[in-house]
Amino acid sequence: MIPMVDLKAQYRSLQDTLEPAMLTALEATQFILGPNVQAFEKEAAAYLGVEHAVGVASGTDALHLALIAAGVGAGDEVITTPFTFIATAEAIDYVGATPVFVDIDPRTFNLDLNAVESAITPKTRAVIPVHLFGQPVNMVELMELCVARDLHVVEDCAQSFGATVETKNGSVQTGAFGDAGCFSFFPSKNLGCFGDGGLVTTNSSEIAEQLKSLRNHGSKVRYYHSEIGYNSRLDELQAVVLRAKLPQIDNYNQNRRRVAAAYAAGLEGLPVEIPFEDGFGTHVYHQYTLLSEQRENIMEALAAADIAHAIYYPVPLHQQEVFADSCHGVSLPVTEQVAAQCLSLPIYPELEGERVEQITDVIRSVF
Ligand SMILES: *Cc1c(COP(=O)(O)O)cnc(C)c1O
Repeated sequence: MIPMVDLKAQYRSLQDTLEPAMLTALEATQFILGPNVQAFEKEAAAYLGVEHAVGVASGTDALHLALIAAGVGAGDEVITTPFTFIATAEAIDYVGATPVFVDIDPRTFNLDLNAVESAITPKTRAVIPVHLFGQPVNMVELMELCVARDLHVVEDCAQSFGATVETKNGSVQTGAFGDAGCFSFFPSKNLGCFGDGGLVTTNSSEIAEQLKSLRNHGSKVRYYHSEIGYNSRLDELQAVVLRAKLPQIDNYNQNRRRVAAAYAAGLEGLPVEIPFEDGFGTHVYHQYTLLSEQRENIMEALAAADIAHAIYYPVPLHQQEVFADSCHGVSLPVTEQVAAQCLSLPIYPELEGERVEQITDVIRSVF
């Protein structure tokens, strides 16, 4: 059996440092916004190269609170990709705005920037690029487009912790370009905790201050409330886990890239489209996703060999039942084609080369 992810292998490798740190936090009993949350926010901001990082309860909340802090609200349109997890669009709906889905690039599966430009109307207030599967969007170009039109940019970095984009000032982390960057620490993400957790990054002290208020019941001074806020804090025990893992993230991502390179070698010459790296930045392979007209046959062979596989995502957001009314008649042919052919294979830092070979041999046997 080869799983999609192996969380236990990572836990075992951290056990010796993590367990004493966890016990110390249990003894300290500062469970809400305690010292580990504060320290993690500092360490994450330093790693990501941003002025501020604010811990929140999930990636979904990160997007929701970032949109509020960016001033997006009722009547606004927010352009985003239909080829993402539902949370990206849910957050837009939470603030009373309307998601406008535009087509994707067939090779990177990320937003097609020409399609973004064409979809801008006087009501457009913001764009949410998603660095899907760990491949960064070309943020240099997107920021140019959005700054010129006074549009807010909220990056969905749930799958891209540690991915970088090349700029004329060197490589810059995803989450350091827009008004805000939104990260998820769901256990299976590149940087995952042991439950739910999230983070918003920003270079604006105003946005950071508002996020700290929003996550804590709209309060800057205890029991004084200046706005309606939420209960959305990063948990102290999750911060302990994240502090143990953060120093390893480059190592984890390099190993994901090693697995991706092994897949590319093993699949060479087969009639499947392997992930494309656009060279604008570093792909951190949250997922390793193929395109194939023979998807059903490949899935059957993998299942017979007890190898996990998954379709991310089978139904694009503009075709989801929840958006049936608002997206009636919308057709996004590239997205629909990709959704019909995509197949994600197991990938995690600890996946051995021999296992990858086993997987590519099974796929090879289909052809
Ligand atoms: C996981 C994910 C989210 C949501 O994060 P949660 O922490 O699960 O709330 C948002 N967007 C994308 C692209 C994701 O993959």
